[in-house]
Amino acid sequence: MPTLLVLDFDGTMTDAEAEGAPFRAGYLDDLCMLVGRPAGDPEILAIADAVEAELAAAPAAHPFLWMGRAVAPATVDPYLRMVPIAHRVLDRFEAIPSALDRGRLLGGVLYKYNYGKTLGRPVFRANAGLALSQVAARATWIVTNSDTHHVAGKVMSLAAAYPNVQPLGERVRGMARKFDVDDRWEGVAAELPLPGLDRPVLLRRHAYHDILAALLRDHGATWSDLVVVGDIFELDLAMPLALGARVGLVASTRTPAYERAFVEAHPRARIIDDLAEIPAFAFGAL
Ligand SMILES: [Mg+2]
Repeated sequence: MPTLLVLDFDGTMTDAEAEGAPFRAGYLDDLCMLVGRPAGDPEILAIADAVEAELAAAPAAHPFLWMGRAVAPATVDPYLRMVPIAHRVLDRFEAIPSALDRGRLLGGVLYKYNYGKTLGRPVFRANAGLALSQVAARATWIVTNSDTHHVAGKVMSLAAAYPNVQPLGERVRGMARKFDVDDRWEGVAAELPLPGLDRPVLLRRHAYHDILAALLRDHGATWSDLVVVGDIFELDLAMPLALGARVGLVASTRTPAYERAFVEAHPRARIIDDLAEIPAFAFGAL
């Protein structure tokens, strides 16, 4: 049967921490202004560092909430981490007490304004161009929560050095809504227990499932022909793994230990330490 490879992009092919650095710096400067401090105020920066250290020390206790459900660890993503940091800063200075105002400001205005500072300056992980150029001629798609055109633009920025990546610019499915959990959909078990995590991983990611199912149908392939590579187990990998796919977790220093341990112990899952391993993991010897 034909193998279908599906890749996450941000944080998987890119270095999310390096790419998100202008977002973090710009967002913190805006918080300084909001509480009447000069940009780069050391007390604000210290609060940010302290919150990030708390999240890193106990990733299982700090989920990212979406529609009131815990859908991913907050610590692995510099954009997700900024929300608890902003709340701590505003609490410390007793600024903007309204939850509604904070929601609009933190997740809306400040997020969009500062995310814009990261566009047009992708930071790739080592061997991203090499790996993508080696899989682009095979059945490979990129499925991402991000905007299709932003990600296609990042792929095409590799084309000068790696001309073979070009076909992948046309094979990006964005807005995959991997955060969305649909309890009414019964296409997979509701939950996956993970040792070391005291809440279950929620599997019913209906929108993401339907994108993968459509790609499999188009390629005449089944779930056991699918290989998914991503950087956040809960978002990218748990649902396809439960349906029979093989999965690769691209790990970083922020990967929770319970995710790493589960992946290492599972016969259809493995840790990807170097992106250059991806072509052979998906398609065997090329
Ligand atoms: Mg990712």
